[in-house]
Amino acid sequence: MEKGSSNPPHVLIFPLPAQGHVNSMLKLAELLCLSGLYVTFVNSEHNHERLVRFTDLQVRFSQYQGFQFKTVADGLPVEHQRTGYKFLETFEAMKVVTKPIFKEMVKGITPSLSCIIGDGASEFVLEAAIEIGIPVIHFRTVSSCSFWSYFCIPDMIKAGEIPIKGSEEMDRIVTTVPGMETFLRCRDLPSFCRVDGMSDLNLQVMTNCTRQSLRARGLILNTFEDLEGPTLSQIRRRFSNVYSIGHLHEHLRKKLIEPKHQTHQSSNSLWEVDRNCMSWLDKQPSKSVLYVSFGSLAVTTKEQFLEFWHGLVDSKKRFLWVMRADSVAKRDGEAEDYPPELVEGTKERGLIVEWTPQEEVLAHEAVGGFLTHGGWNSTLESIAAGVPMICWPYFADQQINSRFVGEVWKLGLDMKDVCDRKVVEKMVNDLMEDKREEFVRSAAKMAELARNSVSEGGSSSHNLNCLIEDIRLMIG
Ligand code: UDP
Repeated sequence: MEKGSSNPPHVLIFPLPAQGHVNSMLKLAELLCLSGLYVTFVNSEHNHERLVRFTDLQVRFSQYQGFQFKTVADGLPVEHQRTGYKFLETFEAMKVVTKPIFKEMVKGITPSLSCIIGDGASEFVLEAAIEIGIPVIHFRTVSSCSFWSYFCIPDMIKAGEIPIKGSEEMDRIVTTVPGMETFLRCRDLPSFCRVDGMSDLNLQVMTNCTRQSLRARGLILNTFEDLEGPTLSQIRRRFSNVYSIGHLHEHLRKKLIEPKHQTHQSSNSLWEVDRNCMSWLDKQPSKSVLYVSFGSLAVTTKEQFLEFWHGLVDSKKRFLWVMRADSVAKRDGEAEDYPPELVEGTKERGLIVEWTPQEEVLAHEAVGGFLTHGGWNSTLESIAAGVPMICWPYFADQQINSRFVGEVWKLGLDMKDVCDRKVVEKMVNDLMEDKREEFVRSAAKMAELARNSVSEGGSSSHNLNCLIEDIRLMIG
């Protein structure tokens, strides 16, 4: 903000072009708008076109004074599929193509920017901002526990704890992530640690960008103190301004139901939401349905898909399953001839759809459990709704999130590294029936803590105020 300017602070927010990142950073944008800040939100052209097609976001954001969307090329060729997990390709393309366009765009933005809130998983935004001379705050969309484990990777390598030498080492306890020495096993480390140390590009990129956050003015995390307090304390030993302001979905919901804002929270989806699943849920008994979704990026093999399907049908429980068009790896020329008992079992007790309004689904009275990949947004959404989980982590931070869900928070079961119909059946029955009570109790308690954290005087509420005050003090 220019000295003497009467405008509110102006913040630019730029997420990586992936569903989990766009969703949570749009929520942050809306929270800042509601606090009276001016916000410029930058999307990739490809994602913006999808958001405009599938949501009401342009109308929703047009009510905020000083808000604008901008778009930049993501650097990938037009014909690129952009499905599944393509981070490295995207990182590289953005560094080469997007960075110079972004820099020129930022220079022309008015009123001038107080700061940039950059996605902490992308290196080039911090570099570009430093080159232009604008302060940067990092936002990491992952859990604090995974952020902290990424931060400790150089120490793990120095101590010889990674690379993990073979499958017989997977249950060895890792001793170099402070605060987690009693329960963190090799198999719980972010998936990139399973490879040959720093020779893996994913691991290098994640380690570099996590360390790079030390050069930002602050670090925003979508979590809350009662959930990840001990890990946040560890992070605060190395980072000076850590703002834990989550859960953002709950935080925004709370603000939007305040009387002066008559709007309701709606979708930030890159897929077309199939609302038929809501009327289907309306017809199911209370807490009877297991919701199944592996997020926006995971792709299972056909064998894994069939193990899950058999397990779900054999459990005899009702289920609502999200199946994107690219959820299962296809083999050329393979006919989709599914066993009739699975098709029948699904007709009787299940529903498969391409994309749901997930936050609404989890809050629905009929939903009693969530079989999830443990992506951080999904985990938080389940926590906020008080729904216990079975986690089947796919990649990245999901491996450590699922350890915390099962072992630390006791919010459900960790099905890591197993994909077997008998195990699926047993865990579904444990979660929905046999061991249900203990999980429901801890899930209800955590949901209450989540709500308290965003209430007046709650920790996330307080930290959001601190963030806004600190932004007000920044002069770009
Ligand atoms: N999501 C949704 N509908 C679906 C499946 C997922 O709205 O049918 C949303 C979900 O609510 C979450 C996001 O997609 O906000 C997925 O993010 P997450 O971090 O859980 O996983 P990722 O997709 O990054 O692996």
